Amino acid sequence: EVVLSVRDLHKSYPLFRGSVLRRRAGTFAAVKGVSFDVRAGSTLAIVGESGCGKSTTLLQIMDFARPEQGSVEIRGQRPYELSRADQRALRAHIQIVFQDPMASLDPRIPVGEIIAEPLRIRGADAGERARRVRELMDTVGLRPALADRYPAQFSGGQRQRVGIARALATKPSILVLDEPVSALDVSIQAGVLNLLQDLQAELGLAYLFVSHDLGVVRHLADEVAVMRDGVFVEKGPTETVFSAP
Ligand code: ADP
Ligand code: ADP
Repeated sequence: EVVLSVRDLHKSYPLFRGSVLRRRAGTFAAVKGVSFDVRAGSTLAIVGESGCGKSTTLLQIMDFARPEQGSVEIRGQRPYELSRADQRALRAHIQIVFQDPMASLDPRIPVGEIIAEPLRIRGADAGERARRVRELMDTVGLRPALADRYPAQFSGGQRQRVGIARALATKPSILVLDEPVSALDVSIQAGVLNLLQDLQAELGLAYLFVSHDLGVVRHLADEVAVMRDGVFVEKGPTETVFSAP
């Protein structure tokens, strides 16, 4: 079952010239016709050098905005064709985990509240939130007793587990992972990668994964797309792509 389908996606940024007047000088095409499907329970990795358009692709998907050209379908629905209420319902199904857990967690908020935020927004009461936070912390291998602590009191690996727990709060079927272990010490990357694998096996999650680390990709991905200059130059099963000369 295809849960995320992208066809002929294009995205460009305005180009400016001059440091003071910043005159518009046309557009820069960052993504130029990308197509792929991600199936339930499987992982597609997009790899490529910095600046090739990986993050732009992810952001365009998460944005729910109508693409300049092409289409995005999440569980068969184009988010930009839905009502606000239907968008909100669909949003629960696709969540993102960022590279730097430090940058994406508010240092003033205890981790339990960070994890529960998507539930609070959706109107879950305090009791329900506390119950789910315990469940989610347990799921990602954090002791629920740590819910009252602040992100600064956690290690990098623990913070990334908080980010993953928060992403799981709405029971999504798709996780978008933007370099989820690149900011972590190599010694703790394996623990987070194993967690992601276990979660996928247990919950049937689809992963759209971006990484520049080919070892990580080999470990996690069923399929790999190689991106260069805004397009996919190669796509196929991981073994095939990595065994290519
Ligand atoms: P990474 O390669 O880790 O994705 P980048 O340096 O490409 O990091 O981008 C970091 C952030 O800066 C992203 O949010 C991206 O959208 C933004 N960004 C990248 N290039 C530009 C640019 N030329 N002008 C404005 N913002 C940019
Ligand atoms: P990657 O994630 O593969 O490193 P990005 O998608 O961040 O690549 O960037 C693709 C291209 O688009 C780069 O040339 C980058 O400088 C440019 N870019 C990214 N974000 C912006 C932005 N907000 N404004 C202008 N240019 C951007």
